[in-house]
Amino acid sequence: MIVSTSRLARHAREHGYAVAAVNVLDDLSLRAVIAAAVDRSSPLIVQVSVKTVRSVGVDLMTTMFRLAAEPAPVPVALHLDHCPHRSVISDVIAAGWSSVLFDASDRDLATAERETAEVVAEAHAAGVDVESEIENIVGVEDDIGSDTAVHAYPVETLVAVALRTGTDLLAPQLGTAHGLYTHTPVLLPERVFRLLELTDLPVVLHGGTGLDAADFRAFIDAGVSKINISTGLKLAYMHAAQDHLRGAEASGRWDPPSMFADISAAVRAEITGHLEAFGSVGHAEGATAAR
Ligand SMILES: [Zn+2]
Repeated sequence: MIVSTSRLARHAREHGYAVAAVNVLDDLSLRAVIAAAVDRSSPLIVQVSVKTVRSVGVDLMTTMFRLAAEPAPVPVALHLDHCPHRSVISDVIAAGWSSVLFDASDRDLATAERETAEVVAEAHAAGVDVESEIENIVGVEDDIGSDTAVHAYPVETLVAVALRTGTDLLAPQLGTAHGLYTHTPVLLPERVFRLLELTDLPVVLHGGTGLDAADFRAFIDAGVSKINISTGLKLAYMHAAQDHLRGAEASGRWDPPSMFADISAAVRAEITGHLEAFGSVGHAEGATAAR
């Protein structure tokens, strides 16, 4: 069934786990991540990047999600990942998605606050939650973002802006980066503690691919309740395709449905590992009742 993103994150926080928020690329990966959540009785957030929204189209993406998520016996939300473009935000709000990440980290602080407040007003009028990012999380993901930290603020500023704008979830810089790590990151779980001394808003961890189970547990213990996974799914997807195509070349058997099955199995296994690491296994029923 389809549920609200912030309620899933709040249930996770109350019960000491994090909801996996997984970027999907198409119907194949969408169905595979939902199958993983169903298999482990886990709540799930399905995310889509602006690049994927533009390639698939808002209407088809919305319909695919509804057809896959509504009959599923676990709570699932649909979230637009990093989006600096107001027109795309408006399109998915109108389509009734669960939430959007308005990424204002390329704006100066005053502009970021003003535009975030406008997005929150528009989203809340339609019952859509808003994740807010005003500091940039380093790394480029699907053409969005920067490899250098452009804006960084004290936690007090992040919380004050979130409260003034009415934001539902916070995406602060926590030492992680998008994409594959080129060097060992300096993780900042203590920054989550400091934020949560000032607010009860759910805190989101970006750049989860490449961290280990102990890193995830440190962030969850600090209070992170939504963890984004994108690169991990892409790697599982592409490596499964590569392995399949090598086999096809060697055997001379070219059968797309069997490649789709291999990709699906690889994505499912990858996401199952994250559901287990995030502690969300078995929480589907409780998170649904929390509605
Ligand atoms: Zn991100």
